[in-house]
Amino acid sequence: TTNINIMTLPKKNSDMPIEEFRKYGHQLIDWISNYLNSIENYPVLSIVKPNSIEKKLPVDPPKEHETMDDIFNDLNNIILPGITHWNHPGFMAYFNSTSSGPGILAELLSGAFNINGMIWKTSPASTELETVTLNWLRKMLQLPEKFQGIIYDLASISSLHAIAAAREQAKEIYTNFNINKLKIYISEQTHSSIEKAVKTLGLNSSSIVKIGVDDNFSMIPELLDETIKKDILNNFQPFCVVATFGTTSTASIDPISEISKICLKRNLWFHIDAAYAGSAAIIPEIRTYLNGVENADSLVLNPHKWMFIPIDLSVLFISKPKLLKKAFSVVPEYLKTNEDKNVINYMDYGIQLGRRFRSLKLWFVIRYFGINGLQKIIKEHIRLAKKFARYIDLDNNFVRLAPTYFSTVCFRAVPNLKLNDLELNKFNENLIEEINNSGVIFLSHTKLNGTFTIRLVISGIRTNEQYMEKAWNLIKTKTNYLINNYGN
Ligand code: PLP
Repeated sequence: TTNINIMTLPKKNSDMPIEEFRKYGHQLIDWISNYLNSIENYPVLSIVKPNSIEKKLPVDPPKEHETMDDIFNDLNNIILPGITHWNHPGFMAYFNSTSSGPGILAELLSGAFNINGMIWKTSPASTELETVTLNWLRKMLQLPEKFQGIIYDLASISSLHAIAAAREQAKEIYTNFNINKLKIYISEQTHSSIEKAVKTLGLNSSSIVKIGVDDNFSMIPELLDETIKKDILNNFQPFCVVATFGTTSTASIDPISEISKICLKRNLWFHIDAAYAGSAAIIPEIRTYLNGVENADSLVLNPHKWMFIPIDLSVLFISKPKLLKKAFSVVPEYLKTNEDKNVINYMDYGIQLGRRFRSLKLWFVIRYFGINGLQKIIKEHIRLAKKFARYIDLDNNFVRLAPTYFSTVCFRAVPNLKLNDLELNKFNENLIEEINNSGVIFLSHTKLNGTFTIRLVISGIRTNEQYMEKAWNLIKTKTNYLINNYGN
């Protein structure tokens, strides 16, 4: 209990008094507990109009101290309506990232420590916990010891670093190295982050070669091999192949093992983007799809996408960390330490100097749930997605548009209204709009070969069977509504 009177507090020229911190800290934890406990009462997708939040906020910053009560009031009245609730069980759009109790607590603690783990010395626990937790994660994924892990913020950044290391390798392989001749191979389904990385690294946009995919949206390895062969004959310098384990649109899987053999044969860097589905590879049956990874040079996964860790936490596993270091290491005098020879200074392995204490939340979450607990939740998501996919397959009003390997289901409505392609696309656009306006669930879309495709992803920690059934009933109801009102 506290007996402070906020009105009598001195002007704020030092930090919040500890008793005030304690009081509002308790209030905040209560607030978060109530929020998470009643999150289903909020519309999953925020319904505010553009600029409406901005208009409610003062243009100028406050000159004097404001009370935490006033800040909390505005949080409730202004900010909360503008939140799209990623932790809501009905959030089934994109690739969800949901936080969990232990993850939230670790984030709070990270703010309290507020360490900057740029070098070992600036917080040995940060560096060493990162090394230990990433070794745990490597073992959970059954990756060989050759992989060293490093935490970045996001998958786009992890992939950028992997490709930078690949470029270093190319400098060693090609004695006549020419950045304008480099070629990197991706598929038509590869995430846009790889193209952004290539732009950032100063390669030509023509260095990106998009390989075709089969009916399951997986890269065709024969096409890859032929294209590389042709490029070599034409004096280009192939240096990297990116395969995806769980593509963004459909969660398809590129043939990892076959691609790994092509990369070995041609001495190319093999990077695997497993941003979403990588977390599921802690389940032995799913891990088999990743066979061939032992020949890869790097792999990225985002535990914040499907391991219940608050955004952001992306992990890059890399088998040649020396090349990464070569690409990025610059050590100014003021960052040299006596321990440099005996420790990892993670600043050497990337663009940024400062580093948040992200491994703390990985540690909390892995310990709290245990491997069994994490496997159980992810397995259940996959079971629910496959059950939903069966509903789609058995209903004449719908078709599935891609295989369901993980927890992503691609489908569209095909009502018996004699619609042409354009009209069908429009019908589905209207359908997703109707569904999302309900506030009950939130779905996103993609286009597959010109076909407007609805995606339903089950990866939220609070999404259970009841919610999957709720989603299915809502989708059916809204479809029937649109069918019955078509042309009105
Ligand atoms: N790779 C894949 C396969 C993705 O699906 C995504 C995003 O959804 C990314 C990379 C980019 O992730 P991030 O937002 O962490 O940069």
